Amino acid sequence: MQVKAEVGSSLTTAEYIELEKRYGAFNYAPLDVVVKEASGVWVHDAEGNKYMDCLAAYSALNQGHCHPAILETMIDQAKRVTLTSRAFRNEQLPLLCRDLHELTGMEMTLPMNSGAEAVETALKAARRWGYEKKGIPVDEAEIIVCAGNFHGRTITIVSFTTEDAYRKGFGPYTPGFKVVPYGDAEAVRKAITPKTCAFLVEPIQGEAGIIIPPKGYLEECHAACKENNVLFMLDEIQSGLGRSGKLFAYMHEDVRPDAIITGKALSGGYYPVSAVIATGELLGVFRPGEHGSTFGGNPLGCAVARTALRVLQEENLCERSEELGSYLLEKLRGVRSPIIREVRGRGLWIGIELTKPARPFCEELMREGLLCKETHDFVIRIAPPLVVTQEELDWAFERFEKVLTKTI
Ligand SMILES: *Cc1c(COP(=O)(O)O)cnc(C)c1O
Repeated sequence: MQVKAEVGSSLTTAEYIELEKRYGAFNYAPLDVVVKEASGVWVHDAEGNKYMDCLAAYSALNQGHCHPAILETMIDQAKRVTLTSRAFRNEQLPLLCRDLHELTGMEMTLPMNSGAEAVETALKAARRWGYEKKGIPVDEAEIIVCAGNFHGRTITIVSFTTEDAYRKGFGPYTPGFKVVPYGDAEAVRKAITPKTCAFLVEPIQGEAGIIIPPKGYLEECHAACKENNVLFMLDEIQSGLGRSGKLFAYMHEDVRPDAIITGKALSGGYYPVSAVIATGELLGVFRPGEHGSTFGGNPLGCAVARTALRVLQEENLCERSEELGSYLLEKLRGVRSPIIREVRGRGLWIGIELTKPARPFCEELMREGLLCKETHDFVIRIAPPLVVTQEELDWAFERFEKVLTKTI
């Protein structure tokens, strides 16, 4: 008997929500919109209403929903071979590693699937490097991280979050992490000891509310690391791949990271692909059998990632992000409203900090046809797919202005 493929159904928004509430776990508080179709910056709900996506799946959709070139690659590769596991080699992995080398100048890539797995990979590599290359006594390595960080959801990663909601009730926690204030390079320098193997930082903190550190911060941290033989590792999972107006956000400053952790838009939203892109000295610490992932580096993911990267370059999405981001930021800064505390951003990555909880404003924006999500209670994050046009941003701006000057 042949199994027939089945996609979609024709329930109403209320019915889908009811089903999800009955059978799904409650680890998210989504807006009550059920997306059934999407293209570029636009999504459609179960009733056919249209919205502009101003979150882009936390920047996993920088290339826009259902990008046709990535779709073609996905289908083509899916028909040929999807998974070999790393027990055998596949044709796509070497090509992705080469492409990432050419884009960043880094020597090696280790592919994984989710962002959190790539962060874990970098942490493991850093500890191993600390013991084998730096000579830190075994099991005593320290890694410095920043307050307000977001690096994912594994037990080790939530062990060093400063956000109660991410951490509370999940102990016992993984030791070996030291937290310093974000944006304070002197604090990093002071926290370094002979046992420090790495400093892990987001060039801009997205989840914390688009927190942009002072100019020169990365350079000063980088210098402190280099002077003390400490690895400088960047989590570019959200800030990278065009979001900040550069391919990677660290490229706004003059630094050479030891590791770039990437994910999200690496696959243009089609399929989870993440990677650690690093020096040979760092990733070289792994020998066969010491780290891995069944799906990491699979040919489907690698093919999709290669096209996703080509789309970023050929459609000049970094430049667009820079230009259109400045354009929208200026316009939003011009909005006069007593509830706006600050408007900040870099590239098409803008945070509007309010004096009141942002959630009701996001709900009102949804009714106006804009999908935004609050982050950390008081901030509305605006991060549309980078394929958005100036006209579409003007359309969005009218609605932002309307909602932000309303009394809610
Ligand atoms: C999303 C994100 C992660 C985690 O990625 P997942 O794919 O959700 O595991 C890690 N770091 C940053 C900065 C992120 O934005």
